[in-house]
Amino acid sequence: MTLKKYLLAPGPVPVPPQALNAMAAPIIHHRSPDFVELFSHVKEDLRWLYQTELPVLILAATGTGGMEGSVTNFLSPGDKALVVNGGKFGERWTKICKAYGIQVTEIKCAWGESVDVNQIEAALKADPTLKAVYMQASETSTGAAHDVKAVADLTRNRETLCVVDAITALGVVDLPMDTWGIDLLISGSQKAFMLPPGLAFVGVSEKAWRFNQTATCPRFYFDFAKEKKALEGNQTAYTPAVSLIVGLGEVLKIMRGEGLENVFARHTRLAHATREGMKAAGLTLFPKGTPSSAVTAVNAPDGVDSQDIYKTLRTKYGVTAAGGQDHLKGKIFRIAHLGYADTFDTIIAIAAVEMAITTLGGKVNLGAGVKRAQELLLVK
Ligand SMILES: *Cc1c(COP(=O)(O)O)cnc(C)c1O
Repeated sequence: MTLKKYLLAPGPVPVPPQALNAMAAPIIHHRSPDFVELFSHVKEDLRWLYQTELPVLILAATGTGGMEGSVTNFLSPGDKALVVNGGKFGERWTKICKAYGIQVTEIKCAWGESVDVNQIEAALKADPTLKAVYMQASETSTGAAHDVKAVADLTRNRETLCVVDAITALGVVDLPMDTWGIDLLISGSQKAFMLPPGLAFVGVSEKAWRFNQTATCPRFYFDFAKEKKALEGNQTAYTPAVSLIVGLGEVLKIMRGEGLENVFARHTRLAHATREGMKAAGLTLFPKGTPSSAVTAVNAPDGVDSQDIYKTLRTKYGVTAAGGQDHLKGKIFRIAHLGYADTFDTIIAIAAVEMAITTLGGKVNLGAGVKRAQELLLVK
């Protein structure tokens, strides 16, 4: 038999059978009453997940398309913006902004750290013309989380937008868009939404729509005003990714059935058990800042290259995790616990890591991490 496969990477994640089955059904036409009916429910359920009164845009793109549109629809060339850069995805904000002629000031934070919000406050005080703060809620490349609420508190009463890439945070941790005053909240289908890649979602505040009226960055496909208008008629501006939207209907039903608080609690529980399990196995965690509840980044033990751990997990044990990026390549590996993840995904992850490191001759307490996670995940 070929190896049985376990997908435990921070996106794409496994898709629940209900959604897989629904997406296998014969295709429906996107201008038909069937689609309009489905889309009207999906639209409402998305607002529920986003904790917002305003419509959430649904784009046929990956998360990066949502990020790009969140720059081009609200800023103009020459505008100034702050970017929190604490990893690969923070870096992406800078690259997108620069591609459109936005003047970026980076708030750098060492990979694995959470941003120092005082630095953002000082920058905003020093320059009231800053149009936006771009940040991640969870920096997937390092496994660290940033304090979104604290940043939104700073932008709320300024002429500055709080733009949050929540691609591994929405549906993982509580991010009440309206209550906190987040202006743009971005997520993607292959993360906590537990769908295949191909959809991006963007929540847009009143304040952001006001910025939209005067923003002059070039745009065509990702024209958010056009999408908002189409959404009013339960449509998208162009052909939607119909099958993914059918799947979206299913996963939103699953999440509604579980309840928001329970969804967050499950991610918190799995993240905690993963971290404690890794420590009990004798490993150390990479992030020094607040750890993400979506993904755990772990340092490879002495003398072991983390790329070998990643490869051994995949080729010998059938487990797909993730390695480190850029200067962290060879140093860390990352295990996800987001989306369609539960107790035994975590147990498998920890067991497989212990076994892979043992296979490679590295130092690890075989079984100790699993035992610790079992204790923490016991149902009483
Ligand atoms: C996955 C991810 C993205 C988006 O990547 P795509 O490949 O465009 O889906 C952006 N930001 C974060 C934090 C991510 O985890």
